[in-house]
Amino acid sequence: MLVRRTTLLLLSSLALAGAALPGRAADAPLKVVASFSILGDMVRQIGGAHVELATLVGPDGDAHMFEPTPADAEKLASARLLVVNGLGFESWLPRLVEAAGFAGTTVVASEGAQLRSLDEAEEHDHAEDGHHHHGHHDPHAWQDLANGVTYARNIGQALAETDPAHAEDYRRAAEAYASRLQELDAKVRAEIAAIPPGRRKVVTSHDAFGYFGDVYGITFIAPVGRSTEAEPSAFDVARIIDQIRQENISAVFVESIANTRMIEQIAQETGATIGGALYSDALTGPEGDAPTYEMMFTWNVRQLTQAMAGS
Ligand code: ZN
Repeated sequence: MLVRRTTLLLLSSLALAGAALPGRAADAPLKVVASFSILGDMVRQIGGAHVELATLVGPDGDAHMFEPTPADAEKLASARLLVVNGLGFESWLPRLVEAAGFAGTTVVASEGAQLRSLDEAEEHDHAEDGHHHHGHHDPHAWQDLANGVTYARNIGQALAETDPAHAEDYRRAAEAYASRLQELDAKVRAEIAAIPPGRRKVVTSHDAFGYFGDVYGITFIAPVGRSTEAEPSAFDVARIIDQIRQENISAVFVESIANTRMIEQIAQETGATIGGALYSDALTGPEGDAPTYEMMFTWNVRQLTQAMAGS
């Protein structure tokens, strides 16, 4: 106890000594932890060189099923700001925060976003999916770029409050980023509006595109029996083939490897286009299709419009 106290006192006098040297303490980057890759990208866009960023669920990671390690607790223990999505997306986070003894500020990036309610069927599907969504709102709010603007402003504000020495830089970067997202939003709307409404129906086995569908005017239809564990039955496949024919669905996107065979059979028997990968809950690494939030949208919209146009 005494030893620890002495160490703490020593550390605080060192910190004071450091602060007395002009510029020194202020130059140390702000330690920020983001819960998953999309928020990590937003923090990087806004915080730039002022921030030392650690992302818990990295590129290609599944934030729904994440199991934190002691190394994650260490990252969090030394951070001053934690950026989370909220809406029940990171169900593993409260335990990690406690284990790490995190004493910094937490910002919920989705605060003030336009939320989409989950109906009972969707909540049930999420549970079957292995998704751990608590609450009645769809957590994938970033799939609407107008919400992305809200996220950007929340993150900019939190960075400015946590690191007042660079507040102006954060605010300026957040506004510039928000403007880019607004321009991208207009571009996405225009590109999707160019597809005849009757063709804007696609099948995907991922349930994360509810916001995207509502806002940009695409109907995303889930194939039946999409649990990753259960093999779809012949009855399931026949039912969805009927549905695709009746509803004139133009494209099928392969999201989950477990369902590939089923989706290919459906495409063969209906003539619907098989689309490429869509990214929803995680970015790719720097060499991949979707290394940033903006590039994720650009990629997804190109995949969707090409497939819906039947090219
Ligand atoms: Zn998800």
